[in-house]
Amino acid sequence: MAFEKIKGHLKNINGIVNIINSKEIPSSFLFCGKEGVGKLTIAKEFAKISLCKSKINNEDFLSFDSNDGLDCPGCESCRMFELGVHPDFLLVDFNYQAGLLGEKVSEQKSIGIDTVREAVKFSNLKPSFCFRKFIVINDAEKMTVEAQNSLLKTLEEPFEGTTIILVSSSSNKLLPTILSRCYKLVFNRLSQSAVMDILAEKGYEIKRAELLSEISEGSVSLAFKYEKVLQMFEENAQKPYIAPFLITSKLSKTEDFREGAVTVLNFINSFLYFKMKNYNNTDKITKAIKENFKYMNYLKHNVNTRLVLSAALYKFFSEFDFFKQGAVL
Ligand SMILES: [Zn+2]
Repeated sequence: MAFEKIKGHLKNINGIVNIINSKEIPSSFLFCGKEGVGKLTIAKEFAKISLCKSKINNEDFLSFDSNDGLDCPGCESCRMFELGVHPDFLLVDFNYQAGLLGEKVSEQKSIGIDTVREAVKFSNLKPSFCFRKFIVINDAEKMTVEAQNSLLKTLEEPFEGTTIILVSSSSNKLLPTILSRCYKLVFNRLSQSAVMDILAEKGYEIKRAELLSEISEGSVSLAFKYEKVLQMFEENAQKPYIAPFLITSKLSKTEDFREGAVTVLNFINSFLYFKMKNYNNTDKITKAIKENFKYMNYLKHNVNTRLVLSAALYKFFSEFDFFKQGAVL
């Protein structure tokens, strides 16, 4: 992966390339924007390129001759980065914290102060392989207030050559004191064609990629979630009367049942809007969307998830034959 292979976000990527070329990389960044648009991918690429040995043409810093030569033929630094073992790069997330605590990733609900203290310790060490160090904190809004406070001093006066990138899809949950210390880059939703290209590259058939990219609001991670919903619907397509109960039962065994149910109801809505384009009975679809909103509202008000989901699915499966006929794809 290199910047030229990343879809969308051209303005931000050009900005980052200019920053790298200027040899003055700010010490703290905030990459914010909707979930699943590529913020973390770009943050990691930023770090990887900045640490790349083949880009270094003088003793103390890296430099690019031009913006088009960003792809490295495979230096030791890039290879270590790809393997996830680069000594001058730290990714702080639930995986990292679970490793520190000897717990399961699924048990992590927030990023705690001890985890951030480890990151601060890392930031205070001299780089061991390159001339710089990068720390990326993913889902930074999950840091507790204590954890955020413990990061303030490092954000303000980091060890020379250390850059910290906070990645967040809910930056409004970060303390104003954190926000004011970071150089902010906003990542907008991806275009439908960018999401479609990404899905096609991952091997999705064109029709499938088209549907998912149309309904996923410019978010690749949402497209992946909707793909799972589609698969569940398709698996049960031949048994529409029991499908609602089979799907509800399967989802109820997952870790966050309620969130799963919300995703399914959101999928139904987006899917119906998509189908409205070439379905002759638009009144029927409009009515179904209104019904679905009613179920979404029930979920918001904590009505029993199992009841709401199976009722919504029953309504959807019994009124439309999109899946029965295999007409989706
Ligand atoms: Zn390299």
